[in-house]
Amino acid sequence: MSNWVFAAAPRTSLPVEGLDDRFPVRRIYCVGQNYAEHAREMGVSGRATPVFFDKPADALTMTSEVPYPSGTTNLHHEVELVVALGSGGRDLDAKQSEACIYGYAVGVDLTRRDLQAAAKKRGAPWTTAKGFDNSAPISTIRPLGDSAHPTNADIRLAVNGLMRQQGNTAEMIWSVPEVIAELSRLFELKAGDLLFTGTPAGVGALERGDLVGCSIEGVGTLAFTIV
Ligand code: MN
Repeated sequence: MSNWVFAAAPRTSLPVEGLDDRFPVRRIYCVGQNYAEHAREMGVSGRATPVFFDKPADALTMTSEVPYPSGTTNLHHEVELVVALGSGGRDLDAKQSEACIYGYAVGVDLTRRDLQAAAKKRGAPWTTAKGFDNSAPISTIRPLGDSAHPTNADIRLAVNGLMRQQGNTAEMIWSVPEVIAELSRLFELKAGDLLFTGTPAGVGALERGDLVGCSIEGVGTLAFTIV
């Protein structure tokens, strides 16, 4: 094998609850507008094909101090159930999709809402709105093991102790296996892929100094401060 012309960037990985071994991250796929009430607050309705976008793997962060990003004056929080895949494939059905799930985590899809609104207006990509550095705070992965899938789990986000988002994963328009199946028709999914599954209603702005606290029943918790 050849040497690199400079040192290669380290692979992004996440800790796994109860294990010393880490989960090697490949890609981050995200689905938008997957809870009806949030879709309505963003001005859309119905069960259209899911909206997919992505974030670079190194946008993940487990830091307790997340820097307020440049280029925005309207940084929004979106708490989301994150699915971690232990295997993948193409053209999966719902049952095969469920079998690919390694575990779950709590994530936040941080969004430059002002840049997203401008991109929507122009029909432009969401890269700068969604894929910036440190745009994906995430918890430790909880492996599925023998436990049940969190299909009826409370999902919450509070800012400075005040509840902002409160929903239940049962309110997803597209279930997790349906999202994975749809995604597998567009991409070959592989072990190490993460999927942010959308956010319930109540998204809102964050300011420097805000303490963000998130929880998903049966999955875990996540807390960080915007600095
Ligand atoms: Mn989102």
